[in-house]
Amino acid sequence: MNGFKEDLATPYDNVNQDNEHIDSYYSRSLGNESPHPELDEEVKTPVCVIGGGMAGSALVLGLADRGVKNPVLVEANRIGWGASGRNGGFISAGYSLPPFDIVKKVGENQAKELYGLTQSAMKLIRRRMEGLEDDLLDLNTGILNVSWFNETEKVRSHVERMNEVFGEDFKFWPREKVREYFTTERYYDAYFKTGALIANVLKYTGHVAKLAVGLGARVYEKSPVTEVKKVGDQWHVKTRRGTVIADQVVYCCSAYIGNLKMKLANATLPVATYVLLTEPLGDRMQTAIRAPHGASDNRTSSNYYRPLPDSRLLWGGRVSMFHPSQEALKKIMIKDLLHVYPQLKGIKAEVAWGGYMGYTKHKMPQIGRMRDGSWYCQGFCGHGMCSTVAGAEVAAAAIANGEETYKLFEPFGLDYAGKPFGPVVAQTVYWFYQVSDKIKERVVN
Ligand SMILES: Cc1cc2nc3c(=O)[nH]c(=O)nc-3n(C[C@H](O)[C@H](O)[C@H](O)COP(=O)(O)OP(=O)(O)OC[C@H]3O[C@@H](n4cnc5c(N)ncnc54)[C@H](O)[C@@H]3O)c2cc1C
Repeated sequence: MNGFKEDLATPYDNVNQDNEHIDSYYSRSLGNESPHPELDEEVKTPVCVIGGGMAGSALVLGLADRGVKNPVLVEANRIGWGASGRNGGFISAGYSLPPFDIVKKVGENQAKELYGLTQSAMKLIRRRMEGLEDDLLDLNTGILNVSWFNETEKVRSHVERMNEVFGEDFKFWPREKVREYFTTERYYDAYFKTGALIANVLKYTGHVAKLAVGLGARVYEKSPVTEVKKVGDQWHVKTRRGTVIADQVVYCCSAYIGNLKMKLANATLPVATYVLLTEPLGDRMQTAIRAPHGASDNRTSSNYYRPLPDSRLLWGGRVSMFHPSQEALKKIMIKDLLHVYPQLKGIKAEVAWGGYMGYTKHKMPQIGRMRDGSWYCQGFCGHGMCSTVAGAEVAAAAIANGEETYKLFEPFGLDYAGKPFGPVVAQTVYWFYQVSDKIKERVVN
């Protein structure tokens, strides 16, 4: 037994002991999709992928797409049960480490290649949604990144550099335009990411796994991997009631890996973060938000949110090592919301939930191969809905065709992420961020 259950024992993950999705906007929006079976036999495959978040689902699809015959995906709970089916739904190019910090680390050429992988992933994501946009997308109208600080030239220059160096099509929004659509004095200028999407991420992750099945992949849910053992040239991947015998194995478990593979577990820090869904706001929405876009601000302890077509607001943010109760979490998140939009005082929350991001020390994903020959694709931090697809594509190309693009990620290795003090470190860093945001606000605004 690998102990993953103990590791997952938090108030949010314990809500459903039967390995079902936690209560959230996303799980409430599911229809009667039939589940994938539990693995209860011995199966053989060229590649076994462990972990059915967006990284694992996109990877098994990438393998099947490249002609790998019947690759297998085993998920402990349901497809999208982890961060991938609980997040804010913002999908845009890039990684958690900002583009110009990547330039500092690896130089402009490699940074452009790395960023380009996520731009290609955006195209792939759109292609994979074709014909189902109404069901899978909540908004197809771009995302606004607003500045909390009075720094017009900084925002303008960021837009120019992103467009020039990374070939983006960002648009500068002066503060008057921002405040026309977002009625809050907290915001200054902004930039608009034209190609960004906002998806129902649980449905979308499920859709990707289904596409893989359509190409011959076998997907198993409620099949927690308890042990991975090398026997001769093959991997024996044991689940509760079955075994996968594979030539290659890939770990895509990120923050939820428990102690299945300690080298990988030590390289990602599970950081809890939260989302709130309000009641329908009706006409009150117009007093605060009049844009059909998602928005996020540029504090280091930022919020991100989006209006839903039925006038509910989905609001995300915060990092915490203390897991508040559902009611306490609703109050904390509503307080954050009212800090930006005091005119919404009195609104109620429908549901609030949390999830773990797999944070790496360098804020870049970890993609590569270990000495024992097994592969990993993890650590997408808080900007993972596009970069998981980019990471999955390079990992799939490496495994299926021996391509070496994944080596672009070599400078971002399996650095120790700070366990067992990690949660304390994450909380302390978040508090530090909150204080430095406040100091900056006083100095700059
Ligand atoms: C609340 C929240 C909001 C976020 N908002 C955004 C956003 O708006 N935009 C964005 O780009 N990113 C966002 N992120 C980050 C993004 O969700 C993640 O980077 C991304 O989903 C990571 O995907 P993953 O497949 O690597 O991990 P996960 O989705 O966590 O998947 C890992 C899977 O592995 C499975 N697993 C673990 N152990 C085993 C085992 N032993 N056997 C079998 N299966 C196992 C787990 O059950 C889980 O399903 C957010 C994250 C959170 C938590």
